[in-house]
Amino acid sequence: MNIDLEIFSPIHQIKNQLFEDKGIEVFIKRDDLIHPIISGNKWRKLKYVLKRAQSENKTHLVTFGGAFSNHLLATAAAAAKFGFKATGIVRGERVNNDTLFLCRLHGMELLFTDRESYKDKAMLFEKHFVGDNEAFFIDEGGASPDGAKGCSELINELSETYDHIFCACGTGTTAAGIVNGIQNHNLPTVFHAVPVFKNGGFIKDEIDRFLTSPANYQLHLDYHFGGYGKTDSRLIEFIKQFVASTGILIEPVYTGKMLYALYDLAGKNYFKPGSRILAIHSGGIWGLLGMKDKF
Ligand SMILES: *Cc1c(COP(=O)(O)O)cnc(C)c1O
Repeated sequence: MNIDLEIFSPIHQIKNQLFEDKGIEVFIKRDDLIHPIISGNKWRKLKYVLKRAQSENKTHLVTFGGAFSNHLLATAAAAAKFGFKATGIVRGERVNNDTLFLCRLHGMELLFTDRESYKDKAMLFEKHFVGDNEAFFIDEGGASPDGAKGCSELINELSETYDHIFCACGTGTTAAGIVNGIQNHNLPTVFHAVPVFKNGGFIKDEIDRFLTSPANYQLHLDYHFGGYGKTDSRLIEFIKQFVASTGILIEPVYTGKMLYALYDLAGKNYFKPGSRILAIHSGGIWGLLGMKDKF
């Protein structure tokens, strides 16, 4: 089977008084529309990983994530679509939630594991799949050079040049891929990564490990809202306002923080008048289901 999805990721302009006052143009690339479940950067990260699994005649994808992991869910749906078996090794005690329900519905088998053993993923794989020639290891979040390669293709789809590109950042694989794409095309674009967890400085090493050549980019470390999955009333208000005024769904874990950063920086005159800015909607809106009580 040919492992591919037709990419539908249009670019929409976001118009409002703030951007007009600052003389900037802001656009959003709708990677959330690529697929309802294998959405955003998760498809881009999986594409070459799945192709590699197929070329090595592996039929069983094994991957890792927390109980709300968009990557687990995307892998479950991609496995179903492209004819693989899938196992998700889930961090922490057995729970059920909307994300895991959807994983199971797509046929993924779930193995729960305590937080201590979860730290050593190679060992877990070894323990459960030793001697199993069909099983294929995919790291947590799809972090890999293949993942970055898929993400770099986002830049091939741009027909115009932007001064700035913004993206939310977890493992840093997506960020690295986009920076590689910018370099491959010799674009003057500045890339901005917004890490979604506290003390995100280490993410520079994570991004740099997947760069195909050294590059500069901006890290914005002050938009984590207390840490991974944490929110506060400012962020929730921002998201409500954004969704209600644009009709574009975002969530508090990734895209909400990234867009909050962009709006905040715009308000602080960070961008020169005349700047054209592209935000990447990296998908993940199912994450909203786990956070309904915050709204
Ligand atoms: C997983 C995810 C990210 C983070 O991507 P990394 O490549 O791990 O940095 C960003 N946005 C959304 C919506 C995600 O689900």
